[in-house]
Amino acid sequence: MKATIIGGGIIGLSSAYYLSESGWEVTVLDKDDFQNNCSYGNAGYVCPSHFIPLATPGIVKQGLKWMLDATSPFYVQPRLDRALFDWGWKFFRSATPQKVEAAAIPLRDIAIISQKEYEKWTTIPGFDFSYEHKGLLEIFQTSAGREHAIHTVEKGKQLGLDVDLLDENQLRQLEPQTTINGQGAILFRCDAHLYPNKLMAGLLALLKDKGVQLLSNQKVTGFEKSAGKIAKVVTEKTAIPTDAVIIATGSWSRETAALLDTKIPLVAGRGYSITLENSPYKLNHPAILLEGRTAVTPMDGNKIRFGGTMEITSTNTPPRMNRVEGILRAVKRFLPDFDIPMPEASAIWWGYRPCSADGLPYIGRTNRFKNVVIASGHSMLGLSLSAGTGKLVGEIVNEKPLSMDISPFSVERFN
Ligand SMILES: Cc1cc2nc3c(=O)[nH]c(=O)nc-3n(C[C@H](O)[C@H](O)[C@H](O)COP(=O)(O)OP(=O)(O)OC[C@H]3O[C@@H](n4cnc5c(N)ncnc54)[C@H](O)[C@@H]3O)c2cc1C
Repeated sequence: MKATIIGGGIIGLSSAYYLSESGWEVTVLDKDDFQNNCSYGNAGYVCPSHFIPLATPGIVKQGLKWMLDATSPFYVQPRLDRALFDWGWKFFRSATPQKVEAAAIPLRDIAIISQKEYEKWTTIPGFDFSYEHKGLLEIFQTSAGREHAIHTVEKGKQLGLDVDLLDENQLRQLEPQTTINGQGAILFRCDAHLYPNKLMAGLLALLKDKGVQLLSNQKVTGFEKSAGKIAKVVTEKTAIPTDAVIIATGSWSRETAALLDTKIPLVAGRGYSITLENSPYKLNHPAILLEGRTAVTPMDGNKIRFGGTMEITSTNTPPRMNRVEGILRAVKRFLPDFDIPMPEASAIWWGYRPCSADGLPYIGRTNRFKNVVIASGHSMLGLSLSAGTGKLVGEIVNEKPLSMDISPFSVERFN
């Protein structure tokens, strides 16, 4: 039986792994060359702690204030676009305390499944992606930040996660070699991190070894339909007969799903990162700088990566390099010893997070075509949730019992 996966980001590759493991003949198609997409330059967190989705009442209020500042951490590029209005309205409707509360459990569950799968992957011979399970700090500077931290720790404990609040001294003891301007931090012991570039390279090599076909420069433009099923996936160059189709086209998934008359509200949330390959600056733990909305990740030995900003924009808009200044300013405010000059444009990475309207991914079959599964919309959590998503995709396609209730991820929940 042949499965065709559209999209060679971490979600497509993880799905390919589980389908290939269960005996499918798998082809992965990508419009580019598999060497750069959102799954490469991200912060590398594998984080059950992120049980709060993007759509929260706080982000709506804060976002309205930030909207006009192009260096702010959350920015919606104003434009006349029906898909953006539709998404914005659904995002606003999802940002209620009740919906945020309800989202926490499925987000925790899929993250834990995913983390367990990643831990299994670390035992696959030759597949090293610098996975470290040593926790994640979320450092705060203000009393509002402390309030948020107290609430998050309480909620995290209720969800059974290993999490604690640290005061300034306890934080200093964990990071004695670095000056930190912070009142304290949350320590999420439950979290891990890895080096995404190594994960992607390793997974591509592993899939090749397993006989998975990886076809570059094959933009999918349509489908041949027959009796409520997809018979062929059509690209700019060819048409591929298939028994099952997985759509994992990240920020382009709304357009891909539309080719199947399926609506998923989704926009691209651009973020940027820079990586020092041989960093003179040290942190023992990855850290989120809360009020600066910036992620700092020491990874793969001496590397350190700084990333952030959420810019809701079109994938065709040229990158705004001045947003990186906002990231570096936040780093300096929290870590005053870190003197990082604005890098050359060529050293700045950017990627497009596939943002669903409620911060939960879309995972499941479409209503119209029984052999199509969508796996997308993971927003800020695609890396963290990918191994779990791939496992679920394998279970759905093989009609096996599911590792968790996936109804909160229903593809057509907004219809
Ligand atoms: C700055 C930043 C930091 C982040 N940090 C974290 C983190 O610490 N932890 C975490 O979990 N997540 C993080 N994320 C989010 C995470 O990177 C994404 O959620 C994840 O990479 C999305 O993976 P994906 O496979 O869905 O999409 P992508 O990686 O974008 O892959 C989609 C692929 O589909 C292909 N494609 C699109 N359309 C077509 C078509 N028509 N035909 C063929 N191919 C097509 C594209 O070329 C692309 O290769 C971060 C993101 C950013 C920007």
